[in-house]
Amino acid sequence: MEIAIMGAGLSGLACAITLEKNGISPTIFEKRSKVGDRFVNGEVLLDIFTRPVQDCIASLSDEYGIYLKPTSSIQKMELYSKNEEAVIEGHLGFTNIRGREEDSFESQLGQQTKTQIHFNSNKTYEDLLSEYTHVVLATGDGAYAKETKNFRKDLSVSIKGATVEGSFDRYTVMAWIDYYISPYGYCFLIPYSEKEACISIAIPDLPENKDVNIGQLWEVFYHKVRSQLKQELPITDQFQITNYLMGICHSPRIGNTFYVGNNFGTMMPFMGFGQYASIVSGVYAAYDLCGLGDYHTLMEPLRQSYEDALVLRRTMEHLSNEGLDRMIRSLQGYWGETLFLTKTINPIRVASYLLRPYIKMKKGVTS
Ligand SMILES: Cc1cc2nc3c(=O)[nH]c(=O)nc-3n(C[C@H](O)[C@H](O)[C@H](O)COP(=O)(O)OP(=O)(O)OC[C@H]3O[C@@H](n4cnc5c(N)ncnc54)[C@H](O)[C@@H]3O)c2cc1C
Repeated sequence: MEIAIMGAGLSGLACAITLEKNGISPTIFEKRSKVGDRFVNGEVLLDIFTRPVQDCIASLSDEYGIYLKPTSSIQKMELYSKNEEAVIEGHLGFTNIRGREEDSFESQLGQQTKTQIHFNSNKTYEDLLSEYTHVVLATGDGAYAKETKNFRKDLSVSIKGATVEGSFDRYTVMAWIDYYISPYGYCFLIPYSEKEACISIAIPDLPENKDVNIGQLWEVFYHKVRSQLKQELPITDQFQITNYLMGICHSPRIGNTFYVGNNFGTMMPFMGFGQYASIVSGVYAAYDLCGLGDYHTLMEPLRQSYEDALVLRRTMEHLSNEGLDRMIRSLQGYWGETLFLTKTINPIRVASYLLRPYIKMKKGVTS
């Protein structure tokens, strides 16, 4: 068995690590010049989005032998709509860094594998198919899945973000769901440390947003964060992504091609979380390749999570700022704590179940 992994990101590296542990040596082809050679940004692993898993970092290490050090745990989340706020306190998840930093998640995974990585690769999927018996597509987007007609596109999002300097509480993450700043989207402040944070704005590419200028909205958001934190927050680094694809594969494996990470559809369309599922999908593809499980079956819970998140995303597209105000107000206190902190409840599953008929009535959702 000759295995090629296309992409040295979260899912591709997790796949390689797991194959190695089981005595199989794959080869990785990465288009960039080193692992993590991309913009730097802050991301989060939120327990509420990975239920029934309670602690992603512990689960990755205990269940899958993948060891990651987050930047910090999250002990407080501040949620803002246009006129309301909710503060949830307790252990909510973790923050981490991505990209070219030494301690980014991809760099940490890169250090856990001895697999040969061919950098600056321009091999196509077709090249790899002809040279290897098995191909793991881990390129971080659904492009190949779409090209091979194995992908249902549900959404694309444009994102603008920056690293800012200031004074932050590293245990607190802030999120804004305010359509005045980000129509049908969301904004985050994720600290890297007490002195640096990532701020970002994500705007879905919906027909309703065709006249939206992300640059202008970014300025509104940047101004809002500075006045809310009463700090200057000078920008030291910036990134922008247009039309970031979200969707899901019809089949996670076709012949000897495995679709992992965002190629499968691990990026939740609700708030854009996909790190944990991406890593796990890489592990599961490796299990199948090692004869330890069936990739289709193993991926079913992740498919369900995606579909649940899609219901919430479609619901967001029918809300107004007044509706968001009501939602955020209701999360302050008992309900927020119950949803975010009761480990036995999967709120995304429950909400999706309750909202499905509403969405079916409004638009029709595919599952
Ligand atoms: C701005 C932003 C913020 C996010 N925030 C969060 C968050 O807070 N929490 C969360 O859980 N998720 C978040 N996500 C989603 C998460 O980052 C992704 O779901 C996850 O990284 C996907 O992992 P992957 O392995 O599919 O792809 P990646 O980790 O992106 O890796 C893909 C790799 O493939 C390489 N590659 C691409 N094309 C080729 C090619 N043709 N040949 C060879 N190599 C190729 C790339 O260079 C890269 O190294 C965010 C995403 C973005 C863009």
